[in-house]
Amino acid sequence: MKRYWFVFCQSDIVLEKLSDGTYTIPFSENAPAFVKSSATVHTITPFEDGSEVRAVSLDIPVIDDPRYEMCGLRASYYKLNINLYNKAGKCQEILYWDQNTRFCGVCGGPMKLHTDISKRCTVCGKEVWPQLSTAVIVLISRGDEILLVHARNFRGTFYGLVAGFVETGETLEEAVRREVKEEIGLAIKHLRYFGSQPWPYPSG
Ligand SMILES: [Zn+2]
Repeated sequence: MKRYWFVFCQSDIVLEKLSDGTYTIPFSENAPAFVKSSATVHTITPFEDGSEVRAVSLDIPVIDDPRYEMCGLRASYYKLNINLYNKAGKCQEILYWDQNTRFCGVCGGPMKLHTDISKRCTVCGKEVWPQLSTAVIVLISRGDEILLVHARNFRGTFYGLVAGFVETGETLEEAVRREVKEEIGLAIKHLRYFGSQPWPYPSG
């Protein structure tokens, strides 16, 4: 049975080059590269049309096959359709989570996959799920102007919007007010929710 293979090496993903110059995700029975028997092949939520999805992380990049190209996840936004790009983000999140939760935070025992999106400690039974680091980004406007900021950690001379992580015990609205106060010292009015998106770089 054919399925989509989201194959990563660190933060780069394997893309398949098509004859018309566009790119896709390999769709085949087997992974498009050799997968060690010790590697975990993750089953990811299927696409809406029922197509199955697998994700796996390789130790070495796929560079010796002209059909494929390694591409950074951010850059793949410009090469994949939005459904494939979003799924690539989810796969990267699951692989990152798997690699960063090898041992139990309570007793140090080895963790084992329990469901597709949970792990359980083989010693004490503690369960963990992929962690999200919730962040807010806020557009501040006055009339037809918007406020841009330049942060010290920005490389180059570009400007951005006020943004930051939500702290424990804080609502999204409180996080927005706190970040704006901290970054530019302003109190804001007429706070309005706009929308949300996943941000897999990583766990956002
Ligand atoms: Zn444990």
